[in-house]
Amino acid sequence: MSALLEVEDLHAAYGASQALFGVSLRVEEGQALALMGRNGMGKTTTIACITRMMAAKAGRISFAGRDLGRLPSHKAARLGLGLVPEGRRAFAGLTVRENLMAAARKGEWSFEKVCELFPRLAERAGQRAETLSGGEQQMLVIGRALMTNPRLLILDEATEGLAPVVRAEIWAAIRELKARGQSILVVDKSLRELATVADDCVVLERGRDVWHGAPAALSGDLAQRYLGV
Ligand code: ATP
Repeated sequence: MSALLEVEDLHAAYGASQALFGVSLRVEEGQALALMGRNGMGKTTTIACITRMMAAKAGRISFAGRDLGRLPSHKAARLGLGLVPEGRRAFAGLTVRENLMAAARKGEWSFEKVCELFPRLAERAGQRAETLSGGEQQMLVIGRALMTNPRLLILDEATEGLAPVVRAEIWAAIRELKARGQSILVVDKSLRELATVADDCVVLERGRDVWHGAPAALSGDLAQRYLGV
């Protein structure tokens, strides 16, 4: 059976500066894949190509049995790619409820279900997004992605720069999503947290996938070499 997401030999560049030199990865239905690597190794660029925010120079991306080819990003989103981009971006002028409802599509996820996953959002339903704390805004952005009922949820550094207690809440939610069968592609620096959700890891180094394996196998010398931890 083919994977939900299959990326093969992806090459990408910013003008004359090449960022990806052949990245391959796959996410099986219901599985979570962690994409790791130190700063600037190509994680965000890989995600930008998958979500069609950036055109790849070469390579093949297939999602749910379809070649993403030259599909524009809004069409890729409609196929079921739900992106939580690096850095928080909720609609500032809208309330929590309006932010979530604006993203709603037919399917399993509703305003109420997102509020069950993130009770803080229920408490702040009528509050404008810009008045939320950083962690609450991040929950809102994840909630927005869920409201689109994504077949694949893509999280790019979803807990970066947040207070430990909020990070823990967000990781608990990610674990809950995984347990419910949500397919996930997650970029993060915390090997410890990733190990609690990811079935597999891919490590990028200078735009190449240099290591594939189970998170538990990425320890000691390997972790030091690839992640600097
Ligand atoms: P980080 O953890 O810092 O986000 P990353 O692994 O996501 O790192 P990318 O952001 O994909 O890495 O960057 C890969 C390479 O592409 C780096 O060398 C980076 O400097 C370069 N790069 C990224 N964005 C741009 C851009 N907009 N213009 C030019 N070069 C870029």
